[in-house]
Amino acid sequence: MTQSNSRKPKIRLKLFAFMAGFTGVVLLLLWLLQVVFLGTIHRSVRVSETKDIAKKLASYTEAPITLESKAEKLARSKSVCIVAYRFDRIRAKEMFSCDITENCVIHSMENGELISMHRKAMENGGSLLCYYSYNSERSEYELTNEVSDGQSIVYSFIVKDARGDDMLFIINSEVAPVASTVRTLNYLLVIISITMIILSVILTLILSSSITKPITRINSSAKELAKGNYSVNFEGGSYREAEELSETLTYASSELSRVEKLRSELIANTTHDLRTPLTMITGYAELMRDLEGENTPENAAIIADEAKRMTSLVNDMLEISKLENGVAKANFEQFNITESVAAEIEKYQEFCRKDGYTLRFEANESVVVKTDRTKITRALLNLVNNALTYTGNDRTVIVRQERYFNGERDVLRYSVIDSGEGIPEDKLPLIWDRYYKVDSPHKRSAQGSGLGLSIVNKLMTLIGGRCGVLSSNGNGSIFWIEIDI
Ligand code: ADP
Repeated sequence: MTQSNSRKPKIRLKLFAFMAGFTGVVLLLLWLLQVVFLGTIHRSVRVSETKDIAKKLASYTEAPITLESKAEKLARSKSVCIVAYRFDRIRAKEMFSCDITENCVIHSMENGELISMHRKAMENGGSLLCYYSYNSERSEYELTNEVSDGQSIVYSFIVKDARGDDMLFIINSEVAPVASTVRTLNYLLVIISITMIILSVILTLILSSSITKPITRINSSAKELAKGNYSVNFEGGSYREAEELSETLTYASSELSRVEKLRSELIANTTHDLRTPLTMITGYAELMRDLEGENTPENAAIIADEAKRMTSLVNDMLEISKLENGVAKANFEQFNITESVAAEIEKYQEFCRKDGYTLRFEANESVVVKTDRTKITRALLNLVNNALTYTGNDRTVIVRQERYFNGERDVLRYSVIDSGEGIPEDKLPLIWDRYYKVDSPHKRSAQGSGLGLSIVNKLMTLIGGRCGVLSSNGNGSIFWIEIDI
């Protein structure tokens, strides 16, 4: 386990890898957009701007009187040059010319060359986009197909006027050379890269330490817990997940310590509970074997009683473990519960009468329910058994059946009423726990396992019922179980 763990990368390393990947992607994106595709993007933006200017110019032709002044304004605001010609049937006549930029291509062209654009645009469907680049050897602009840096865009298009004559507009806009910009950006990119790498290293260190610190702390506390130190304190950290983990572990450690306490109590209790009958059985058996005249029915009865008590203790332990492991399943059937309980109580009455106890069953109607007959009877008899053990000097226990409406449905309740000492209020929530006994074991008159009520609680939960108790010190107890009808 340790070997495979040590092969896994630490969280810091993983964070470094993620950060490096993230930084790499961001830098690559910046480099592609700002360096590699900058020229292309800039050119296509310029072309679409020029076409927008053309659209505006075309819309100005609807008012020929203001056309020139509007065109001039547009040319200035967009830093482009514009030349316009009108073609009537005889010749081409210049309408206006806005010479705004310094190195204008169209203003360095011959008139004839400009007029020839009309034919070319006509052949191209009414508009034509050309690129020109400057030839420094010949000190002139030349038409080029090659899309390159520092070009000039010449866009010519034809619009018909009101008389049906052609108007030719030629727009020239410069594409600024991006080479020097790219050099600047390259330099900036180096600075950005270095800054981002340093920042991501710092961020990784801060992040990884804030993530790992609480985990390391919790881990060392968990190791303490594994050694059996249940009082260990789990401290969360600055984020919720670690806080929740530490809360869960604190809860687990408190549960572990409870279980550990119960385990030691169980060992102490069962040892005590089993030792007494075992000692008695061995003692009486030896007595009967070794001494003449001791082989009496009374002594044999003591051995039988002790053996029975051991059997019931072991049975209780088996039953609770079945209930807790989920092995026990509810088996529902429709039956007359009043008759069934009356018959069980009747059997018990025989048994108690011998010891001078009175067990009374009170029911004013016969009720048919659908529930698990064995489990509900077992739960009720457990309560009856306890009541007989703890009842007061009148040695009376009453089992009362009541049916009532709880606001939502009909409920059938069995109350087991005794006149014993009752249970102190602060102990009431605890008596349902496994192995919990209110009395300390040595002063108990009854030899219970401490499992009875826990079994009742689990049986009732299994069949969808409820149980509870009303008791206070000195006033007897009323233990009840109930099911929905
Ligand atoms: P036990 O086998 O020891 O009776 P239970 O789980 O049945 O275990 O009961 C738990 C504790 O609750 C008992 O030790 C006892 O102190 C208390 N108790 C249960 N029933 C009664 C009762 N009817 N009157 C007073 N105390 C009771």
